[in-house]
Amino acid sequence: MAAHLAQPTEPLGRNVVPGAYRGVAVTSFDGELDAGSLARHFVGREAYRRTRFIVVRNADQTAIVSVQKESDEPLFSPITAVQLLVGPAECAYVDDPEVDTGIPTALARAALSQAPGKRGVVVQGRFAHVSFIIDPVLLRVTVREVVPPYPPKLLDQAQRVLGLAETLPPMELVPDLVEFDQLAQGNTATSYLLPCRGGGVSIEGATVKYLDERPAREAWLLLGCERSEQIHESFYGDRAPQVDICPRKRPGGGGATLAKCCLLETHNEVDTDRTVVVPWGASLALIADALGTLAREWEPTWAPA
Ligand SMILES: [Zn+2]
Repeated sequence: MAAHLAQPTEPLGRNVVPGAYRGVAVTSFDGELDAGSLARHFVGREAYRRTRFIVVRNADQTAIVSVQKESDEPLFSPITAVQLLVGPAECAYVDDPEVDTGIPTALARAALSQAPGKRGVVVQGRFAHVSFIIDPVLLRVTVREVVPPYPPKLLDQAQRVLGLAETLPPMELVPDLVEFDQLAQGNTATSYLLPCRGGGVSIEGATVKYLDERPAREAWLLLGCERSEQIHESFYGDRAPQVDICPRKRPGGGGATLAKCCLLETHNEVDTDRTVVVPWGASLALIADALGTLAREWEPTWAPA
């Protein structure tokens, strides 16, 4: 069989990663890691049924190729074509046993921090599993949350979700925090009402009461959300002067944004600026859904290869 090169059927996008358990084989080859040499070496050789990519190493040089086989049915089948995805000049090999190589975000972080400027980065990670990423770019997601308490809960939850997300594109979470004590600054109130004591907020020179303790009515300024106003009205028969803390209403941004809202209880919503809003007490599952929605909004064609 004549060795030949596969023509790319479509341009590769950014953040190319193999799908989970999509076999990446690693092999060493004592030859030039250029397209012609690799084709001559691999075409006609048998590859395992699940092998779709081969990481080829020669000393400290690394290349990434994709392979086509005669068939995916038998356990082993001859390779009919190879495509050089990244040649050795643009490819790095990173050995980091902390990285879960099944998680695109983890792959991208490792690539960008340990091999900056390389188009293709092969990572040997946890359990010595090997995977790769080509043209890593982190999707910046702004996370809007109210603090204290610290750490910001929504940010912490979203980080944990990303740490397990096998089918989300690489993301970087950027906190945009609404801080209770800053909200109080610029106001001359001497009495504030906060939604609950949990955060441990104190405001210098002012008394602070907590709505969930249903204190006796005062001429306070409510630092709270619309739901707090509704509770206030239910307790005291009127609405209080208010600084709205709802992260959903916070202006600014324009990029991919994850926020929470006091008025949502059971489901996520997508705002017109493509901010995805989760309930105040969102579960990890709802946050995973929200990150999936953001991924489809901002990276609609991305999927593991
Ligand atoms: Zn709200």
